Amino acid sequence: METLTRTYALTLEGVRKVYGSGDGAVTALDGVSVGLARGSFTAVMGPSGSGKSTFLHCAAGLDRPTAGRVLLGDTDLGGLGETKLTELRRGRIGFVFQAYNLLPALTVRQNITLPLRLAGRKADQRWLSEIVERVGIASRLDHRPSELSGGQQQRVAIARALVGRPEVLLADEPTGALDSRTARQVLELLRTLVDSLGQTVLMVTHDPVAASAAHSVLFLADGRLAGTLSHPTPDRVAAHMTRLGEW
Ligand code: ADP
Ligand code: MG
Repeated sequence: METLTRTYALTLEGVRKVYGSGDGAVTALDGVSVGLARGSFTAVMGPSGSGKSTFLHCAAGLDRPTAGRVLLGDTDLGGLGETKLTELRRGRIGFVFQAYNLLPALTVRQNITLPLRLAGRKADQRWLSEIVERVGIASRLDHRPSELSGGQQQRVAIARALVGRPEVLLADEPTGALDSRTARQVLELLRTLVDSLGQTVLMVTHDPVAASAAHSVLFLADGRLAGTLSHPTPDRVAAHMTRLGEW
């Protein structure tokens, strides 16, 4: 186990999630086991209702599994109370959503450093300079979000997710609101963060082009793992999705 947790940034072991009870019970995840290697970029795909969001929420400690374990490094999330879990989410996990969720009244700089301020931590100025440079918004730090394009706003959200040096960056449809050219640029940025900084990224998407930016793709169907692809291309991802639809 010790070697595993050194290798894996995030581990799910037999994760099962049942919503509701009795006749109304829905099994959203049905025994999923996955290890995300440090520095890997993994996409999760599957038909609507296959459990993608539940998978991400369990991985993030936003939802507690009905059975099984989730480990961030060697920390078992199931062993943490709500306060510790909130601290872990703030300090060790970064989130990027489809909607950028920036605060309109704050400048770009203030938006990026907000999670640190909430956690009572100071921004490391060298790291802050490096990430705003890398995501390409260094010249926009004093602007308000409304003065930026959608792609720029998502870059700000990515910088905000990275500012605390998270062990894992979790992204839920991060390019879902962007046009295809801007989406490609944001995906290239995520891939660059993985390849040059060793950032671990887990991204849920329904878009085969987005998924092909990752090192590998996990497919979910009916709450179960239904295959993986490494070195994905949009065509191979789409073909696998079509097969899932036929099952
Ligand atoms: P996806 O993101 O792949 O569309 P979800 O993880 O959102 O799938 O949902 C998986 C299944 O669990 C679906 O059948 C969904 O209706 C159900 N589900 C998700 N969240 C809840 C909830 N809070 N209460 C009840 N059922 C839920
Ligand atoms: Mg979903």
